[in-house]
Amino acid sequence: MAVNWRVQGNLKVITADIKKVCPQATVYSVGDASHQSRASDHNPWNWGYGIVVSAIDVMIRNGFTKTDAANLVKALKGRSDIQYIIYNRTIWSASWGWKARAYRGSDPHTDHVHVSAKHTRAADQTVKHVTFRPVPVNKPVVKPVSKPTDGKPATKPAPVSKPVTPKPVKAPPFPLGPNSSYGEYKGNRNTPSKSGVRMFQAQLRKRGWDIDVDGKFGEETTRIVKEFQKQKHLKRDGLVGPVTWRAIWEAPVTSK
Ligand SMILES: [Zn+2]
Repeated sequence: MAVNWRVQGNLKVITADIKKVCPQATVYSVGDASHQSRASDHNPWNWGYGIVVSAIDVMIRNGFTKTDAANLVKALKGRSDIQYIIYNRTIWSASWGWKARAYRGSDPHTDHVHVSAKHTRAADQTVKHVTFRPVPVNKPVVKPVSKPTDGKPATKPAPVSKPVTPKPVKAPPFPLGPNSSYGEYKGNRNTPSKSGVRMFQAQLRKRGWDIDVDGKFGEETTRIVKEFQKQKHLKRDGLVGPVTWRAIWEAPVTSK
């Protein structure tokens, strides 16, 4: 088989799209031994627009899952550049109006999706991308603006360039007693210990809040603690007691 063959163009696009999501995915164009022994789209053939292989086998392994396989079938069936698809004892083909029918070949196709392209120049030249996995939404961390505007807390989202989502970590033990809390110094309260305040300020900052790590529990810290409590559906008292303290470390980081 010393001919110069190539994979049909539309299948090349599909293969590249699969590898974009699953870089380790195994996609065969020339079939395995069982395919080669009989007439198959996996064998190079001159269809008048080039010597091409017009089928791919997308193997369920190396990161390409059964869910991906099912979604790939869904995304490809009905396309005008595809002739038929076989997966999991089922065949969908253009000739049968893409209706799912039982596939009774000796290979049940449970470990791969077979995709055969139409043998036309138009199909060969089709550049149509395929999505088989939901695109992950990388939510940017919303940093509350620290400067209040005319008394009201400003919460204009300012997306940071590199979305960082720190994983929740186990909270260090709450430094005060179970019925105590850190709060704004109002004269009648004891000045809260700077080191504890600094600890949760630093953690809030890590989570994307624009807060100064200065160990002072002032207006700004109260405002941000209240925002945080609102976001986490905690009692919005602006105090950092054991519950809020724990949430500052352990609650999932969200942008809203
Ligand atoms: Zn195949």
